[in-house]
Amino acid sequence: MPADYKAELVGVLGQPVAENPTGAMQEAAFAAAGLNWRYLTMEVPPAQLARAVEGLRALGFRGFNLTIPHKVAVMPYLDDVAAEARMIGAVNTVRREGDRFIGENTDGKGFLRGLRLDAGVDPRGKRVVVLGAGGAARAIATEIGLAEAGEITVVNRSEARGRGMTEDLRRNLACPIRLLPWNGTYMVPEGIDILVNATSIGLFPDVHSMPAVDLAHASAGMLVCDAVFNPPETRLLAAARERGLPTLDGLSMLVYQGVIGFEIWTGRTAPEQVMKAALREALTGGA
Ligand code: NDP
Repeated sequence: MPADYKAELVGVLGQPVAENPTGAMQEAAFAAAGLNWRYLTMEVPPAQLARAVEGLRALGFRGFNLTIPHKVAVMPYLDDVAAEARMIGAVNTVRREGDRFIGENTDGKGFLRGLRLDAGVDPRGKRVVVLGAGGAARAIATEIGLAEAGEITVVNRSEARGRGMTEDLRRNLACPIRLLPWNGTYMVPEGIDILVNATSIGLFPDVHSMPAVDLAHASAGMLVCDAVFNPPETRLLAAARERGLPTLDGLSMLVYQGVIGFEIWTGRTAPEQVMKAALREALTGGA
């Protein structure tokens, strides 16, 4: 066979981006799968986003991820956006189809896969509370709704942002969607099956903060999930475990959004265990 030194390229555009751990997980996966692919972590300021996307096109990138602050801003520069990403209003993964760049959103899908595979919970018919109304909350609520959740309650500090999210969800989903203001402590009522923190409360370096929720009346068995992955062990999850409630950390969502990205780009089954180990190592230094 003739030598083939050409690498296939993917990567992430963000600002700041240096601490984004996805590259460690994807590079480990490419190595384990024997693929000559590279994942580049690229700092791009907002004013350069359009030119950066054209640059990736010229270089023949097979796809790319987007992180803060580009997930919404990138949409006009793509050739098409998948239906779910359009519903969510943000793109975190782009794949190349011929010469076309197609936007997808794998954040909510990653959460859903983790929910099923790591926590063993199917959201069908479940009563779900989502804390937050930002990009992660929108992605999680949309995918949970598409997976036929029984009811979704959004609890958010800014009422306007919460209203915007619930109005969009109602347009796209069949299940009842409720909005509750979040002033003071939110008392989680009995009968909720899944509670998700999709705010940035607890994110490094603010690791001692926890969302103002009271778990005293939560049903036994309510699954408490956190989108925050740095640190993976948040105060919310520790508080839930103290009450004997099952938990799902943000690493699960992060791994599976990467697993889905790997599958979308390469068309192969992702080496999940390798990716999980690489991510944990990147975030905790192997601790
Ligand atoms: P956004 O900035 O879009 O949204 C942040 C949300 O958090 C808003 O709803 C905001 O409320 C709320 N919030 C922030 N601080 C407070 C506070 N002190 N009190 C009450 N509410 C607060 O962020 P994202 O949605 O992009 O990200 C949210 C979290 O999810 C981050 O920690 C991020 O790292 C994580 N994430 C994890 C992923 C994973 O794969 N595990 C993937 C994507 C994100 P308000 O509207 O009132 O301002």
